[in-house]
Amino acid sequence: MDGFRTVGQPAAAGAVRAMLGSRVPHALLLVGPPAVGKHTLALDLAAGLLCTGATGDARPCRDCRGCRMVEHGNHPDLHLLAPSGPGNQIRIGEDQHPEPGTVRRLTVDLALLPVEGGERVAVVRDAQRMNDVAQSALLKTLEEPPPATTLILCADDEELLLPTIRSRCARVRLGTVNARDVERLLADLELADAPTAARLARLAGGRPGLAVAYARSPDAERLRGELVRSLLDLLARSRADRLVAARDLQATAMALVSALEPPATTPVEGARRRGRGAAASAPAATGPAGGPGTDGSEPAGDDASSSDAAGGAKASAAERRRAIAVLLDLWRDVARDLECVSRAATASVRDVALLDDLEASAAWLAPGAAADALARLVRAGELLDVNATPELLLDVLLVRWPRAGVAA
Ligand SMILES: [Zn+2]
Repeated sequence: MDGFRTVGQPAAAGAVRAMLGSRVPHALLLVGPPAVGKHTLALDLAAGLLCTGATGDARPCRDCRGCRMVEHGNHPDLHLLAPSGPGNQIRIGEDQHPEPGTVRRLTVDLALLPVEGGERVAVVRDAQRMNDVAQSALLKTLEEPPPATTLILCADDEELLLPTIRSRCARVRLGTVNARDVERLLADLELADAPTAARLARLAGGRPGLAVAYARSPDAERLRGELVRSLLDLLARSRADRLVAARDLQATAMALVSALEPPATTPVEGARRRGRGAAASAPAATGPAGGPGTDGSEPAGDDASSSDAAGGAKASAAERRRAIAVLLDLWRDVARDLECVSRAATASVRDVALLDDLEASAAWLAPGAAADALARLVRAGELLDVNATPELLLDVLLVRWPRAGVAA
């Protein structure tokens, strides 16, 4: 996989390579959990299609002008679309003169001739963050793609895409990546020494984009540790204490979101504005710019009203929901780790740095309590996806989080 930047994913990368060797469909849907490398694979395919230095499945060569422009994020025939703004949605754009970074602008751009005269590629990141209207606006281009044009949609959850969109796309599935590959990526990027890489690879649970985000932000690991310790501490607390702790947890989770997704690396949309930012470094493309932890849990159409419920200032509804999604994500890890520890399966623990704390807490839990909590947290994640009130969900989970020494 020399020209590919994708880490692991032998099946998915193999499928994409085979397409480059024979025929690439006009529309592709890359599906898989957040931060496993969908966007990176999309950019590998884009580079392959726009490569002029090699042919067939020897593409991308990573050396020709086309490859270099893709690498630097300034290829005029590579169009990127990603969620943006306070609601973190992919915007549809105005009817008449749609602004860059919107679905309508993309369809207009694709109707023009390619600048370099060859292939044209559009990559839509977090495609599940298009509402139905935006998806419909893209549908016509999917149904009748302009010549030599490939549309690549990346999505965490394809159920949020219209059936008409899904049926037009060839599907490639990605899964989690083994820890060794993630460790190697962190070493190759010179982001972490060996022990740190090993720790972060486990912590990220097979999601290279998340591991990269943690490696790039020392604050993120500290904030995560704070949250995990608070959750463990709450096992011994009363109902009242837990409800008081809810807002602090949410505020810390919001700080964690900002640490993992610094504004500077927010995806820059619009082909001509891509000189810097997300697409510039392909290996990081699964990274902070929305990949890691971007759990795709934002239902389309989430409103962006302001509130002071968490984090003080003006946190939008989408940001507060996002914080709870990130909190749920690591909370599931805590429950899972507690269950591993109570079954004496410490080799499977993800958060090895907190092993002592986990063991101390697990000792007080009723058998099966952690597993029950894990099931509840998984269900809560699904509810959050379908627009449950995040704060209410958090309160319920905190009240039902096992009590140390009390049967669940
Ligand atoms: Zn090339």
